[in-house]
Amino acid sequence: METRWLYRTSGDFAELREESKGVCVIPMGCVEKHGLHLAVGTDILLASNIAYRASQLETFCVFPDFTFGDLPNNFPIAPGGSMSEGNITLRLETQMLLLDELCAQISRNGYKKILVCNGHGGNSSWLNAFMRKLGNAKRDFVMAVFDIGLMVPHNFARLIRDNGSGFFPELTKEDEELLLKQHAEGMLSGHAGMGEVSLMMGIDPSLYHPEMLGRESGMPTGRAGLYKKHGLKLADGGWDIDVPNAFYGDDPYGANERIGRAAVRFEAERLAKAVKFFKEDEYLLKQLEKSQKGW
Ligand SMILES: [Zn+2]
Repeated sequence: METRWLYRTSGDFAELREESKGVCVIPMGCVEKHGLHLAVGTDILLASNIAYRASQLETFCVFPDFTFGDLPNNFPIAPGGSMSEGNITLRLETQMLLLDELCAQISRNGYKKILVCNGHGGNSSWLNAFMRKLGNAKRDFVMAVFDIGLMVPHNFARLIRDNGSGFFPELTKEDEELLLKQHAEGMLSGHAGMGEVSLMMGIDPSLYHPEMLGRESGMPTGRAGLYKKHGLKLADGGWDIDVPNAFYGDDPYGANERIGRAAVRFEAERLAKAVKFFKEDEYLLKQLEKSQKGW
């Protein structure tokens, strides 16, 4: 079924809404440097692709991409440097207002359960604040967030270990051994690391540029830890001073399309299950009804 909002007509819009049981998913990401080896659109490309795939497993409406997200390191581009080249960020107020208005429009179109499929960790704090704000506002819809996870290599290795070889039919024996080895070595796999590279390869291998590795380090500076040690909290744990190259991880050696396809399928299935639960749940809407009586 065509699940994308933009591809439906006004004439057959209701059919999707009914099949979706009122669930509309907003893919959300950001436009941000991901080391020198992944596209700046990585987070929204992942959120959008995974949301669409999940919608083919469990029908729900896929809203147009909410492309822009909150970035902590929005300083000017250094001369000759690639520090934040390609980054785009909007003021937090703008993003909040945009999401607020989009939610009102989604609700006006009859979708009363809104789920953000978030591909960018930096969105988590403002999304939480947004939902807290909603809790004290007049509204007729409920909302939740689903974060795309980086399952490779550690969670994948655990699943292979616990369920045995062949758990991911996409993988060869060599792939399984590679993931188990990376897990045993304690591979660092955060921003633009093995997990994100794998997901991107699962979507479009041409979006990964291994030849760019080695120019900038993926090792954290450790500076944020000094503040933490003294009980001081910085925005997002001091992400911008700890990860100046927007790359947090060991070089993603061995990443390939098979691992990528397995990772994308796994995340799409996880989202589909989450939506199924959200669809069947009546509690949140009942609570909302109660809370709105005061208005
Ligand atoms: Zn990312």
